[in-house]
Amino acid sequence: MDHEATAAADARRRIARTDVLLADPRLAEAAGRLGRGVVKAAVVAAQRRARAGEIPPDAVAGAAVAALPATASGLRPVLNATGVLLHTNLGRAPLSDAAREAVAVASGATDVELDLETGRRARRGRSVLAALLERVPQAEAAHVVNNGAAALVLAATALAGNREIVIGRGEMVEIGDGFRIPELLAATGARLREVGTTNRTTPDDYAAAVGEDTGFILKVHPSNFRITGFTRGADVAELAGLGVPVVADIGSGLLAPEPLLPDEPDAASMLKAGAHLVTASGDKLLGGPQCGLVLGHGDLVRRLARHPLARALRVDKMTLAALEATVRGPRTPTEEALHADAATLLARAERLAARLRDDGLDAAAVRSEAAVGGGGAPGVVLPSAAVSVPDAYAARLRRGTPAVMGRVEDGRCLLDLRSVPPDRDADIAEAVRLAASWCTGS
Ligand SMILES: *Cc1c(COP(=O)(O)O)cnc(C)c1O
Repeated sequence: MDHEATAAADARRRIARTDVLLADPRLAEAAGRLGRGVVKAAVVAAQRRARAGEIPPDAVAGAAVAALPATASGLRPVLNATGVLLHTNLGRAPLSDAAREAVAVASGATDVELDLETGRRARRGRSVLAALLERVPQAEAAHVVNNGAAALVLAATALAGNREIVIGRGEMVEIGDGFRIPELLAATGARLREVGTTNRTTPDDYAAAVGEDTGFILKVHPSNFRITGFTRGADVAELAGLGVPVVADIGSGLLAPEPLLPDEPDAASMLKAGAHLVTASGDKLLGGPQCGLVLGHGDLVRRLARHPLARALRVDKMTLAALEATVRGPRTPTEEALHADAATLLARAERLAARLRDDGLDAAAVRSEAAVGGGGAPGVVLPSAAVSVPDAYAARLRRGTPAVMGRVEDGRCLLDLRSVPPDRDADIAEAVRLAASWCTGS
């Protein structure tokens, strides 16, 4: 063996064994907090780096400590600087502090199905249902399921069974990732009775299709596309008198009209217009946890809630807590982001860019365009502002803690501030500094 090979073999021998490393007080403490498996994985990865000569043998324990995740879950915190407020791949709506605190409380033993006054069993989710009805007085009853798709499945199963759901051809929508509403409905055993054409469907089309075999009429909001030109649709108000229930799938979860998004349907207006049931998601514009809302006539909501399938679609206590805190609580981060003033965003971007330039970095404040995303308000452009940094930083920003997701446009990485809470600007600055030092190797 030549001298170098001998030295490498020597170094390998000096790498401590896994059980010895796990006895390091810092790693032993972490094993108590995160679980032994998580810590062992970090140790094994550090040993591998030492064997590859990337770090010296005596740095293995330190490298393992540095590589420990913050939690025992593989999910990592991300700062959403994409400018897409509801980013599907980033878990849609970020929860408000009020909702996070409610989740933390509910995560232990909690009175989700118990009345602490009487000591007797109580209705699951009673306080969140009350909160929803306070916000949407037009609804007689409410029910919460796992997501918007589950709300549709439950409505189709409980109200149509193997009968017909009448639906306009312009509303046979794919939401994303191959999820198609007509396929979901058909999977329940209900039959779809398609009416009208892609661009034009009239109230008469619906009236002609409604009959003994109709379970309900379904109106689906085209939440991620727009049809323009020679078009005609039938409003809920025009269908409400046809003698069968009208179910309006509004998608976004707005409970009341949002002046900034005049084309987005909301639960209160739909019920006022005569819809018998409204279905929606909790983690879109409502700004809450993933869940599905069903609001409307008491008898119909009860048919859904009492259907055997309801048990399979029910939400856990933490979702109920987060939803109630979202509905009762202060403005959600989604609402804050939607309503942020463009001039204020630009001022934030300028401050942030100036700070980074003071550190000698290539950063500029630019105007940009943000979007609601997540299947809401297609085509709506929200004027925004971003910090523009070299596109080479994008990958490094993504790998940091917290990860920062920007968007690459015209050879620059834009960190759009409309989707970043104002109190996180300092974290963005810190992440850019780290990314820059990594990219320049300094
Ligand atoms: C998003 C959406 C759904 C599906 O809701 P999930 O919560 O994603 O299951 C259904 N219908 C419409 C109109 C939507 O926009």
